[in-house]
Amino acid sequence: MQKRNLVGLDLNDLNYIIRNLNQPNYRAKQLFQWIYKGIYNIDEMQNIPKNIREKIKNNFEIYRLRVVKKHQDSEKTIKILFALQDNNIIESVAMKYDYGNTICISTQVGCNMGCKFCASTVDGKIRNLTAGEMIDQILKMQEIIEGRISNVVLMGSGEPLDNFTEVLKFIKLVNHPLSLNIGQRHITLSTCGIVPKIYELANYNLQINLSISLHSVNESKRKEIMPIGNKYNIRELMDACTYYINKTNRRITFEYALIKGENDTEKDAIETGKLLSGILCHVNLIPINPIKEKNYEKAHERSILLFKEKLEAFGIPTTIRKEMGSSINAACGQLRIGYLDL
Ligand code: SAH
Repeated sequence: MQKRNLVGLDLNDLNYIIRNLNQPNYRAKQLFQWIYKGIYNIDEMQNIPKNIREKIKNNFEIYRLRVVKKHQDSEKTIKILFALQDNNIIESVAMKYDYGNTICISTQVGCNMGCKFCASTVDGKIRNLTAGEMIDQILKMQEIIEGRISNVVLMGSGEPLDNFTEVLKFIKLVNHPLSLNIGQRHITLSTCGIVPKIYELANYNLQINLSISLHSVNESKRKEIMPIGNKYNIRELMDACTYYINKTNRRITFEYALIKGENDTEKDAIETGKLLSGILCHVNLIPINPIKEKNYEKAHERSILLFKEKLEAFGIPTTIRKEMGSSINAACGQLRIGYLDL
């Protein structure tokens, strides 16, 4: 029988396990703290008696991700390819900013959403990640950079709202004061716009940041680059966003990747400004990273600046995302696919 991995279990799971071993409740807390300190071996749990450790070891193990490849192109960006227990490969990126270290984690192996410009979706979704596999990307990265991660973005491979239960468990785990204690306001979830799940998320009333990958407000253009647009139209998406904002009182970020000749015209900017004006939001313009599987090109710098100007004229706070790491093909899902191609 395969042993169950302790990494990813929450206090409820551990309370249950500890009760079955006829141990007092505080043992569950001890276990919890050890697991999320990032230990590799149950015998490292010094304050848990040896006979109890042996009992735990009968059914449980600590399984940690393995580093397959490490890229560091500057002091500020480190990209890691991790192997999971079943040898599937995922990627995570750490970025060092003045205000702290940020990690971009994957939530699925591959992705089913089919966005035309995205490298993660080229081979479809292989499987969902568990909460443990998500949190271990942080624990391992902290070891690698020898520093604390203070911000987490769910913007690696995968669609977080297509893996709702495990993603929610993950958010609660990293946020827990006895675990990594990363504040919800330091966690950003990015979605291509699975409308019913945005409502569901809103009802949890979390304080996390929600990012919506918008990329076009023109119905047919959005459908063309993002198949999810065929399922939920822009009106339905905006209604869900408004509900989310009203429910949580949190500002939404709209991500807009500018693709030359596709969605970067002045008309696109004005239509976007009209749609978003009056909504509690912020727009993040992303100069698209071209991927070799598709022939999309990065918008010209001048159309990016013009786009920003037009949105700001509607009173919409707009930033242009810094492109960290695109030089080594490791921005937005490109690292894993490059590795699989070898
Ligand atoms: N599935 C989620 C999260 C992963 S993608 C989502 O769609 O939001 C994270 C962000 O990177 C999204 O805004 C996505 O549209 C963007 N992205 C994907 N491929 C990109 C590329 N080649 N260049 C620039 N941004 C890209």
